Amino acid sequence: MTPPCLIVYAPLSGNLGESDCACENFSTAISAIEPSESDCACAPAAAPIQAGLPAGGLWGLAPALYRAPLPGGYQVAFSPTGPAGVVVLNGPAARALDAFAAPAPLADPTARQLAALGLLTPAHATENATRNTPHAFTFHAFTFHALTFHALTFHVFTVWLHLTTRCNLRCAYCYAPRGQADMPPEVGRAAVDGAIRSARAHGFRALKLKYAGGEPTLNLPTLRAVHRYARARAPEAGLDMREVLLTNGTTLTPGLLQWLRDEGIRLAISLDGLGPAHDGQRASESGAGSFARIAEGIEQAQASGLTPHLSVTVTAHNVDGLAEIVAFALDRGLPFNLNFVRPAPGRPDLTPDPERLIAGLQGALSEMERRLQSTTGNLQSAICNLLDRCDLSAPHRYPCGAGHAYIVVGPGGELARCHMEMGRTVGTVWEGDPLAAVRAEDGFRNPPVEEKEECRECPWRYVCAGGCPLLAQRQRGTPAAPSPYCAVYRAVLPELLRLEGMRVLQTNRIHW
Ligand code: SF4
Ligand code: SF4
Repeated sequence: MTPPCLIVYAPLSGNLGESDCACENFSTAISAIEPSESDCACAPAAAPIQAGLPAGGLWGLAPALYRAPLPGGYQVAFSPTGPAGVVVLNGPAARALDAFAAPAPLADPTARQLAALGLLTPAHATENATRNTPHAFTFHAFTFHALTFHALTFHVFTVWLHLTTRCNLRCAYCYAPRGQADMPPEVGRAAVDGAIRSARAHGFRALKLKYAGGEPTLNLPTLRAVHRYARARAPEAGLDMREVLLTNGTTLTPGLLQWLRDEGIRLAISLDGLGPAHDGQRASESGAGSFARIAEGIEQAQASGLTPHLSVTVTAHNVDGLAEIVAFALDRGLPFNLNFVRPAPGRPDLTPDPERLIAGLQGALSEMERRLQSTTGNLQSAICNLLDRCDLSAPHRYPCGAGHAYIVVGPGGELARCHMEMGRTVGTVWEGDPLAAVRAEDGFRNPPVEEKEECRECPWRYVCAGGCPLLAQRQRGTPAAPSPYCAVYRAVLPELLRLEGMRVLQTNRIHW
């Protein structure tokens, strides 16, 4: 007897981690659909998303549909514009998909499920694509799913508050301005007022404050004052609020950790490796390493009931130790993300060689695969955040919110478009609409990925969205160029998808 079609998915939830950028996986995406409670199978999983499917017409394979084998005769399928992320098919389901190599109607529940998951798209979209109008097609297919699920807009307005230029470390790749300037509480409060004005003017639903520096814990009076003020003002303005402290982790005390926990402020700690791998690039002014103190801080934070997010900057110095740091995070149940270094003007270029970076990431993937049976929940976050600006949780047209939904506020209230461009002031928080001032600034653009010619046909275009636009501008002369890390993304994404396929099988308790 032929086994029934089996189509399973377990969407990666957005909003799983903290990044050092304006790279909100929950702000720029079509939101992930609700995780299925069922083991698999077409009808129950499809129910929430079939409702929006247009009836009738001919359907074909989604353009740039990615498919690859998994163990046990399963197959992983991924549509760049699909709403469900990675989908796993058994043999009969894969054959049902093959049947759409020539356009056909959605004649049965399996076909409708495949369409609902974005593996099939209306045939006229496919025809447009073959008529060499990929740009038009891209928008069509994307709009199709966007309309089916959620609006394609930024919902969260992110504000980077540079609480101080002081810092007790001298990290090798640091791009932040260094000095002795602290943000006074009244400037912090003015930044909150300005952010709320912009959030209301542009229809954002939520405000996210990132307390950063320098080392922001060196200016605790302003941190506490801004938090208190924003907590009172944001709800009055009808805005949800989220806060995160981005710290080097060397100054954490039990009192501060308890306060963060009690006030619901997330904690993100920079940790670039274990022992020498970290100390080699994150030392104090005297040259002393900071790993031991940070490891202690992480332990204290967990003991206080916090789950710190580890932010790892990957450079030529620590690239060979990625497996170690990933194992460290997974074994402690800590979310993390790997940020590929973005060299700043006047700073040493620590960009790792692509081959070494790929090898380092493969080592990290092996550690993740080894824990597949035991840590599937934690793996969600790891898969989402492993690869720099890539995000598998949902299609993204922009790699980050710079120039759209993000402002950076310096200690004196000065505005910038990105925290890596703080020297380029574009106004102050006392503007009527600080976000409008940032958007109007004639700086680097952050174009949607469809405007990046070399990315338009890439199957990963809505995963990496072309990468950091500022890095592309600096290294390739235009933000419309593909990421300088493009070759690394392309080499590792298939392996990440394979791992995600296996996680989906595991989550659905399917043995292979
Ligand atoms: S940067 Fe590279 S991997 Fe990303 S969308 Fe462009 S071509 Fe594809
Ligand atoms: S432009 Fe680059 S560095 Fe700036 S927020 Fe975006 S991704 Fe991050």
